[in-house]
Amino acid sequence: MSLAFDDYGRPYIILRDQGQKKRMKGLEAYKSNILAAKAVANTLSSSLGPKGMDKMLVSPDGDVSVTNDGATIVEKMEIQHPTAKLLVELSQSQDAEIGDGTTGVVVLAGKLLEQALTLLDKGIHPLKISDGFDRACDVAIKHLETISEEIDIQANEHEALIQAACTALGSKVVSKRKRELGKIAVTAVLDVADLARRDVNLDLIKIQTKTGGSVEDTRLISGILIDKDMSHPQMPKEVNDAKICLLTCPFEPPKPKTKHNINISSAEDYKKLYQQEQQYFIDMVNLVKASGANIALCQWGFDDEANHLLLQNELPAVRWVSGTDVELIAMATGARIIPRFQEITPEKLGKAGCVKEVQFGTSNERMLVIENCQCTKAVTILIRGGSQMIVDEAKRSIHDAICVIRNLIKDNRIVYGGGSAELACAIQVLQYADEVSSVEQYAIRSFADALEGIPCCLADNCGLNPITSVAQAKSRQLKENNPRIGIDCMELGTTDMKEQRIYETLSSKKQQIQLATQVVKMILKIDDVIAPDDY
Ligand code: ADP
Ligand code: MG
Repeated sequence: MSLAFDDYGRPYIILRDQGQKKRMKGLEAYKSNILAAKAVANTLSSSLGPKGMDKMLVSPDGDVSVTNDGATIVEKMEIQHPTAKLLVELSQSQDAEIGDGTTGVVVLAGKLLEQALTLLDKGIHPLKISDGFDRACDVAIKHLETISEEIDIQANEHEALIQAACTALGSKVVSKRKRELGKIAVTAVLDVADLARRDVNLDLIKIQTKTGGSVEDTRLISGILIDKDMSHPQMPKEVNDAKICLLTCPFEPPKPKTKHNINISSAEDYKKLYQQEQQYFIDMVNLVKASGANIALCQWGFDDEANHLLLQNELPAVRWVSGTDVELIAMATGARIIPRFQEITPEKLGKAGCVKEVQFGTSNERMLVIENCQCTKAVTILIRGGSQMIVDEAKRSIHDAICVIRNLIKDNRIVYGGGSAELACAIQVLQYADEVSSVEQYAIRSFADALEGIPCCLADNCGLNPITSVAQAKSRQLKENNPRIGIDCMELGTTDMKEQRIYETLSSKKQQIQLATQVVKMILKIDDVIAPDDY
């Protein structure tokens, strides 16, 4: 930095900082961006599909998690490179919108980038590539709609939904139990679904994990399960016709602020203080009881003194209820969250048929269930498993399955998996490429190659020869005009994915292709990277 004066003698400052920034331009920038993003996609590609590998991720404090979920893997990889971060966001937006297909979307983006690199080397302008990809994407999406099929979600005890859930669970650590877990997920979603509006509020499905037992012990509980018990063992174990007071203020007398002191010089004074404290508690308990509440759920804790008084005054209470539980209970029971004792009124209480303590399996630990909530039905999936790692992964997997079912309730069209839908689109896009006479033709053709990358990747991951199996599938699709031929990952003897009942939602596939194309287009538009030196 230096100070200079202009012609009129006014001072101004010259900053030299700009020179210290790293800068990449043009082709160099495109390529470096693509390579960084491709590296992320390559890490994920081995996780795709029913035989995909899991990743073990160790956090900076040594916590280990094992997962197959694309969004979780990229999130925990702590990626630094700015363009590679775009792929993390890509996976997360698929997760937020659709829930499943988070690995697939990144793998597809990786394949598209790979193709883009070759096209750049051929000397094709990035904008032409991006244009071509855009047009190919439109063709692929339209074709997906024509090959999609409607399923009857009611028929045969919701068999189609269960199958779709099984496809989502089939690639996860818990795949051995996919049928049972799939059924649980379907029942849970249908329990809270509003079929007339074709809508599901997933917030009403609580997923509670508890280590111990095994994954088979996972079950569906109608009502809200909270991993807490009554604050005192002698309080009643069951409150019927519950009127719930939901408190976010602590059961304790006001504490003196640090800058004030209380001087107690005699036993008298101490007694007075003690009595005043007791009075505080009694007032609080009375305020709660006066409203008609017969149970208090408190987001904060209270000490033994208060606990004892609550017991004496016959007010069952639960302490340390988590914030998310408080919200869910408020939603389901119609309770208003009360931040101050003075604000308790009868209308603010939530109502439920019953609040009771339950015990699961052989463990001693008790939990509370709130049943028959007045406003909406809410359910809990209690996931059990041998270790924290297993229950965490089971939770992520069930989340995927639940999302798939929700998406099918919203839109009941499916396409078939195993790479068959991608292959069918690739064939269509290739045909379209021949009709285009401009440079974009090359990009459109490359887009088709990238789509073929998905079945290739699936075949590779399950130990098949990718080139021969994709070539076989492709020729059969063309010969039989059957878009359902894919990769027989589980070696069941048929490549027809309809026979194998590998269902994927149309919405998920569409979103995957659209999002992947969007990100690749975005990366192709960056021709100048200006970053501070330490990147
Ligand atoms: P994502 O996170 O993208 O959902 P998955 O690991 O769940 O990734 O893999 C999904 C891919 O695996 C999809 O392309 C799907 O069609 C395919 N797939 C899932 N189950 C099977 C199966 N039993 N046989 C063949 N392909 C399958
Ligand atoms: Mg999946």
